[in-house]
Amino acid sequence: MSKKLHNFNAGPSILPKSIFEKTSKSILNFNESGLSILEISHRSNEFKDIFSEARELVLNIAKLDSNEYSSLFLQGGASTQFLMVAYNFLYNNAGYINTGSWSDKAMKEAKLFGNVIELASSKDKNYNYIPKNYNNISDLDYVHLTTNNTIYGTQFKSIPNFNQSLIADMSSDIFSRDIDYSVFDLFYAGAQKNLGPAGTTLVVIKKEIIKKIQRQIPSMLNYKIHIDKDSSFNTPPVFSIYACLLNLREIKTKGLENIESDNKTKADILYDEIDNNSCFVGFVENEDRSNMNVTFNLTDNNNSKIFEKICKERGVIGINGHRSVGGYRASLYNALQIGSVEVLVTCMKEVESLINKK
Ligand code: PMP
Repeated sequence: MSKKLHNFNAGPSILPKSIFEKTSKSILNFNESGLSILEISHRSNEFKDIFSEARELVLNIAKLDSNEYSSLFLQGGASTQFLMVAYNFLYNNAGYINTGSWSDKAMKEAKLFGNVIELASSKDKNYNYIPKNYNNISDLDYVHLTTNNTIYGTQFKSIPNFNQSLIADMSSDIFSRDIDYSVFDLFYAGAQKNLGPAGTTLVVIKKEIIKKIQRQIPSMLNYKIHIDKDSSFNTPPVFSIYACLLNLREIKTKGLENIESDNKTKADILYDEIDNNSCFVGFVENEDRSNMNVTFNLTDNNNSKIFEKICKERGVIGINGHRSVGGYRASLYNALQIGSVEVLVTCMKEVESLINKK
């Protein structure tokens, strides 16, 4: 039996074990059909049932009405949403909150379609906080924000009100907490963190905003076509969607309130250790610390070999910081157990006692 691993990867990342078991079975024999999930037709009744249940569950979990909103499972990652959002909805000016790399990339794509106004930025402090004051500009086509910055470990603790059409990249904190999803006209998330394996991107869109599309858009990038075709304009990623459905069922059963509470407990345990352990220091200002991606550094980089060796021995994996930031990042997605955070904390305590003995 191999040693238990504690998977802190930022994405693709940990998923509930039951999903690995169920998807494994489905690869050999999907629902006793004699066929593998990998070979069933996306037009088959079996897949249609999976797909409609997944699409309905998304809206149900987000407490959104299916008459008002549509959920789509697309491809091309959140990165394709950076351009699709602007291609469909940016005609004059759009406001972007710049909380680092991901928002920056979204802005870069949007600039191809219209005028991008940076409403606020935390670049002055290397994105270690969430800006609180925004340039108040009226009549924007939309405001775009990244609810959780995966790289820097910052998170909007509450969603600001702009009184304008609001669009969010929720790739790294979707369904990690019980927020009011109805404040958004559109939100999207690459599946590969809290939803499922890589290969599909969830988009939830208010049907009413389709009226705002004014230009000719290639079919694959046109939200209207994806809505009209029930998210099956082209072959949907059958396997990824099936895995997402299994996870969505778990999310629904546990409930966002309980998920949020457990995620907060995990983050509190880790931030508490960072704050009280003399060998570590947090990267983000306290009030903006993400409950999903905890970023931290050693106070003395000479201790990195010791820390990494201890982590390896205890099965802690995936804590290296993003290559653009360095240091460490522990991702605490829904499926990560509190016990895994406790193991990481034990590693940190061990470093401290070793260093203090020197
Ligand atoms: N936005 C955020 C917040 C992300 O964390 C990521 C990637 N992890 C992306 C966008 C890009 O997602 P993708 O790789 O699915 O294009």
